[in-house]
Amino acid sequence: MAELEKEDVEVKEEKKENASEKRSPAERTAEKEELKVQLDTAYQALGQKFYKACGVSNGKRPAEVPRASLFNDQIAEIGKIKSKYDAIVSEELAEKGLKACPECENEVVLKSLYCNMCGFKFPVKTEDKPKPAAKPKCKFCGAELEPGSAFCAECGKKQV
Ligand SMILES: [Zn+2]
Ligand SMILES: [Zn+2]
Repeated sequence: MAELEKEDVEVKEEKKENASEKRSPAERTAEKEELKVQLDTAYQALGQKFYKACGVSNGKRPAEVPRASLFNDQIAEIGKIKSKYDAIVSEELAEKGLKACPECENEVVLKSLYCNMCGFKFPVKTEDKPKPAAKPKCKFCGAELEPGSAFCAECGKKQV
């Protein structure tokens, strides 16, 4: 019986390790739930540490707000969990042809360049826009030229 349970756990763990980019909707929901719990735990740890650092546990009032650097580990942990969570959310949205604005959490269509609620400019992914072939260079000063330039924008010399 105990053997069986152990095996079960191992299988689950393996599944998690192998989780590829593509998760099924059910897997994503489960993973989100798990991350929410992790996030709550991480927030709690941060809160407890803050409380202790404030010296409130001694019945004293905090002299000053503890330095933020005291909580680097907790903050890093929260950031890690959040970015995992966000990755799942954006996967889900992408399937619906949407993406979320990082500023206001508004959902916009995937190809939007700007958020229609707050005007946030989405970074252009390099893989979406393959870099054009190397630009021609000025024969005189070596500056990059726009293709088809008759004159160099840097030194003004005629190219043809
Ligand atoms: Zn926005
Ligand atoms: Zn030039």
